[in-house]
Amino acid sequence: METDDYLPISGLQHQLFCERQCALIHVEQVWAENHLTVEGKHLHEKVDKPGSQERKGVRIARRLPLRSDHLKLTGFADVVEFHADAGREVPFPVEYKRGKRKSWRHDEVQLCAQAICLEEAFGVAVPRGALFYGASRRRLDVELDEKLRGATEAAARRFHQLMRQGITPPPVLLPKCQSCSLRTTCMPELSHTPDASAYLKKLAAGEFSDE
Ligand code: SF4
Repeated sequence: METDDYLPISGLQHQLFCERQCALIHVEQVWAENHLTVEGKHLHEKVDKPGSQERKGVRIARRLPLRSDHLKLTGFADVVEFHADAGREVPFPVEYKRGKRKSWRHDEVQLCAQAICLEEAFGVAVPRGALFYGASRRRLDVELDEKLRGATEAAARRFHQLMRQGITPPPVLLPKCQSCSLRTTCMPELSHTPDASAYLKKLAAGEFSDE
């Protein structure tokens, strides 16, 4: 991969969730579905019909292509509302997520990266956006403040660095591995198992089987 390559915005979430997962997907091109990724895909299929409409004076664009030369990222916005403000339109990105709100800020970072793309494309500040959670059917407004922008830039920098290095980090078994779609490929249990025979004994005893 060349240094100048643009990377997918969606990869920021992988990088923030687990750098090994990020490298497996974006360096080694491994992908696996689990029930969480399938549910997420179905939710996006519902909203990912390209096009635009107007509702209560707000223009709404769906599946809008995005690109940031600053972050060197590309992707799509699920929904962008264009709100009238002092005679101009201000983009307001809305990202759809399955499940409910998480304690970490991965979703906010992805939304912020979309906003930075929109700022470059439309030449206006995008101070806010929203996350829509499918499980709770709740929409959460997000302030795209300096702290979040800094976290987004840092995530993008680290994502590019990982891709340049092209090395997949070793597994580290953590509670989040339970929900990782790449768990069976990654085999994080090996990181806590000093030799293969012990691992095989645990495997035979069914200790690693999914819920
Ligand atoms: S199973 Fe755990 S260590 Fe392996 S890729 Fe997933 S989150 Fe990372």
